[in-house]
Amino acid sequence: MSFQHIIGNEKIKDLLTTTLSHQCVLHSYMFVGPDGIGKFLFAKEFAKSILCSSTSHTEACDSCKSCISFLSDNHPDFLVIDSEDGKSIKIEQIRYLQEKISEKPITSSQKVYIINNSDLMTREAQNCLLKTLEEPPIYAIIILILSNENKLLNTIKSRCTKVSFQPLTNEEMIKYFHTINPEYQLTQSILDVCQGSIGKALKVQNEFELYKQVDTILENMEKEDIVDVWNSSEVLYKNKDNIYDLLEYMNVILVTKLTKSNLIKYANCITSVETIKSRLLTNANYDMSIDYLLMNMWEELNEKNSRN
Ligand SMILES: [Zn+2]
Repeated sequence: MSFQHIIGNEKIKDLLTTTLSHQCVLHSYMFVGPDGIGKFLFAKEFAKSILCSSTSHTEACDSCKSCISFLSDNHPDFLVIDSEDGKSIKIEQIRYLQEKISEKPITSSQKVYIINNSDLMTREAQNCLLKTLEEPPIYAIIILILSNENKLLNTIKSRCTKVSFQPLTNEEMIKYFHTINPEYQLTQSILDVCQGSIGKALKVQNEFELYKQVDTILENMEKEDIVDVWNSSEVLYKNKDNIYDLLEYMNVILVTKLTKSNLIKYANCITSVETIKSRLLTNANYDMSIDYLLMNMWEELNEKNSRN
């Protein structure tokens, strides 16, 4: 693995390799951008390259003692802190980081610490981290990874160099999908639903068959016979866990139809989908909500068809 194997954010690859080649790595960074676009991969590759003991200073060699222990997730001078409950990063975790960071490096000349999802740090955790950011040990590098900058204290932000990550372009997404499965037939709707996020794309990969079934429902919606709609809608009833993704995808298709045709019926259907999304959030009866949605959309699309 090297930066070249990570798809997207080419400018950041240049920035980080230049930083490495000039040996001007700073003490603290903030990698900011939407979820699922590779911030963590970049941070790990950057960390591996910083810690690498080969004489090439642009990229990790992947073969020295440091790289080998890094690749086996066993590097004594590297640590990732992340939320343990998916909700917050607590002060105890930052104290642990501080305890570790105060010990001198063992294998490499530097130590790298990543705080993933650092926008989940509690206020106490952030205030605690501030002390380390103000006076980091000479060998220490801290990389904060986050999507929501507003959740960080200004005092933290002002001490970190910000690196802004961008969603992947459609071309980069296609390249990515092609790498994982050349058989994929990527539609514009799938690209729209992924919004340049590889994380989302990975999820879509698992749900690809389901998305295709949503395409069929929408095709049948425009037919007069509602039996076709019911017959093709099993996917919605059986995938309660993925329903928000499927409804979001449905809306992406409806938005495209609306943009192309400018017909109010598509706007009304989008509203119906949004209404059902909020109903489901309030624990409304699941099957009845889906019944209601399908019926509503079919009536909307066919009633308007006959009027036109
Ligand atoms: Zn190496």
